[in-house]
Amino acid sequence: MRTAGRHFLQIPGPSPVPDRIMRAIDMPVMDHRGPDFADVGRQALDGMKWIFKTENRVFIFPASGTGAWEAALVNTLSPGDKLIMSETGHFSTLWKSLAIKLGFDPEFLEGDWRSGADSEKIEARLRADTNHEIKAVCVVHNETSTGSVSRIKEVRKAIDEANHPALLMVDTISGLASIDYQHDEWGVDVTVGGSQKGLMLPPGLSFNAASEKAMAASKNTKSLHSYWNWGEMVGPNDKGYFPYTPATNMLYGLIEAIKMLREEGLDNVFARHIRHGEAARAAVRAWGLEVLCNRQGDESGVLTAVLMPEGHSADNFRATTLKHFNMSLGNGLSKVADKVFRIGHLGDFNDLTLMATLSGVEMGLGKANVPHNSGGAQAAMEHLKQTATLS
Ligand SMILES: *Cc1c(COP(=O)(O)O)cnc(C)c1O
Repeated sequence: MRTAGRHFLQIPGPSPVPDRIMRAIDMPVMDHRGPDFADVGRQALDGMKWIFKTENRVFIFPASGTGAWEAALVNTLSPGDKLIMSETGHFSTLWKSLAIKLGFDPEFLEGDWRSGADSEKIEARLRADTNHEIKAVCVVHNETSTGSVSRIKEVRKAIDEANHPALLMVDTISGLASIDYQHDEWGVDVTVGGSQKGLMLPPGLSFNAASEKAMAASKNTKSLHSYWNWGEMVGPNDKGYFPYTPATNMLYGLIEAIKMLREEGLDNVFARHIRHGEAARAAVRAWGLEVLCNRQGDESGVLTAVLMPEGHSADNFRATTLKHFNMSLGNGLSKVADKVFRIGHLGDFNDLTLMATLSGVEMGLGKANVPHNSGGAQAAMEHLKQTATLS
């Protein structure tokens, strides 16, 4: 049966793809070794430098974010290398599992999935590592499973205070182009990004930004790697090309996405996400429900994870909302499966998309008989009204 109107894809990635980007992708495939391609390659690579806020190298892979996770590790580390990873939620856990499978030796700094990375713990662990056996510190910037943001600047400071040479690697797959991120200024060595979240693209591209220190480390790694090898990319990239067939049409989309982000201005994009996060949390509080992130200042503007009242199934509630209101909400992952649902408010998103989303949540809570107070959508509306400015 046909359902009228657009499906509301309010999961925290993939995010809704704007028509402008769909139209940019819908173009003939071109010769990726022909003379006209160099301009496409250069625009994409230079544009991503602007997004990452780096003067250093950016690599683009035709892969999901998981591929760029792997690329970050195998390009810079050797089998058996120790690293520390902060447990912020499901995605940090997956990255750790991937590191183990690749033969690295990660130590997981435990967390309760309700805040960003604990930089004091990182500093203490690095201070204890007097022989400098730890080769990297890995942190997830925006933990998409919990809606908590890690303070990357503080993590950098922790490494510096401990006077430790470890590389800093950050996954900002779901933070990039939604939450302020400064690869160079914050002294990050490898940043991992993906296409299907803040960049408003379909899934299929992922990125590494690499510092000079990371590039130097990549010359000495003993990890087996070929497809992900930065070294193979450098020569062709400098001329606007890639060593193998790039995802040509996704690059057209990426160039359009960068254009759109330039038109809006990154600072405006970041402010928009912060404000929508505030309004979403105002709604959750008014419903009498609890936001999963409980450390003030770590709350994400990309998504809001909401704890279900005891004895109520988040998945049942999400199924009800999908059935009645044609809206997909994010599920709880692993440890918090069925206990939380996630409201995505990232990417191509405005006040009225947020209001429609929160109205759908409030109606869904009612339909699924989840105990709550009414007035959440109203509270969000008040916040949006009071903070609306013409820019
Ligand atoms: C989405 C996401 C990933 C995984 O990316 P895939 O494209 O699914 O491989 C990793 N980390 C974070 C923080 C994410 O949000």
